[in-house]
Amino acid sequence: MYRNFHNRHRKTNKLSRSHTRISTLEYCEKKYFLNYYTFSLKKIDQKLRETWVINKKLKTLEMWIGEKTHYLISDYLNLLKNNEDTTENINKIKEGIAEEMHYDFDNSKNRKFEEPAFWERGWLCEHYYWENIDDKLEETIQKVWTNLDNFIKSPRVSKIKDYVDLKYPIYIENPKNPDFESMRVDTRWIPELKDISIMASPDFWIKFSNNKYLILDWKTGKEPETSFWIPEQLRIYALKTILKKNRSPELWDNEIESHELYLPSTNTYWGKITQEDIDEIIKLIIQDTNFQKTFLVDQDPFKNQPISSTTFSRTQDEEKCKTCPFRKVCEDLKAFE
Ligand code: SF4
Repeated sequence: MYRNFHNRHRKTNKLSRSHTRISTLEYCEKKYFLNYYTFSLKKIDQKLRETWVINKKLKTLEMWIGEKTHYLISDYLNLLKNNEDTTENINKIKEGIAEEMHYDFDNSKNRKFEEPAFWERGWLCEHYYWENIDDKLEETIQKVWTNLDNFIKSPRVSKIKDYVDLKYPIYIENPKNPDFESMRVDTRWIPELKDISIMASPDFWIKFSNNKYLILDWKTGKEPETSFWIPEQLRIYALKTILKKNRSPELWDNEIESHELYLPSTNTYWGKITQEDIDEIIKLIIQDTNFQKTFLVDQDPFKNQPISSTTFSRTQDEEKCKTCPFRKVCEDLKAFE
């Protein structure tokens, strides 16, 4: 079972940089090691690796809300695209997600780690660590529904319908079945990043003309404390767009408007991308990947072999550990370090 899972998810071994990955490294080095260098645990102990495989598929209730919200909004946008966004159809997709959440919750509670759905979607971290969260299920479903309701009511999103009616080319991410190839940023045109794999894909994208784009992303997590600059991920999506089009990190005459919308509040952080945004994000990615390389043998991003697990320190913030899905494997690993 574990071998199949690993093979299905085998990717290029080159060092990769994504927003999630760098945030994990900043959050806790050990969590970063456990999340991205699992093959090393196989060499340390097979049982430990099996615990890891389960831990890696766990998600907290908060993560579950984010995932299901993305599924539901993607389904809604597909209805919109096909001009089928009737109240009846919207209620159907809401009921569909609720049914799937009931199914996953029961399997998760009953610790059915052999179920194919566990390998596809993962179960809840709270159940793995024996918490009783029976009273949270209906409230969680309601939060996912509210996220969709507020998304539909948002003035920015209501404009999408006009754009769709005008038949502009649009892209809707399929979070249930991510296309990893299309997520790749073409780094060949930035010499310092040519050996790095960067994965980035916005939730929604419209092309108004040959040089005019709108990028829209939504989030259910904590909102930023400041909104003076365009969020990092939006600038990476813009970089990806121009690298694909111009084969150069130069914006030239392209106009890219980017929006990051938070749910359930619908607060939106947005702006028009400038060359300075692009230059800054390239600098940030180089800085991040240089830091990531310090955890690699010979600092070689191509081989991407981690140095000893003991070099990845554990966070001193116990609050972070309380909800960390990796806390079992993290604790078990101590016996080998
Ligand atoms: S349990 Fe704590 S120290 Fe261990 S990986 Fe998670 S956050 Fe890091």
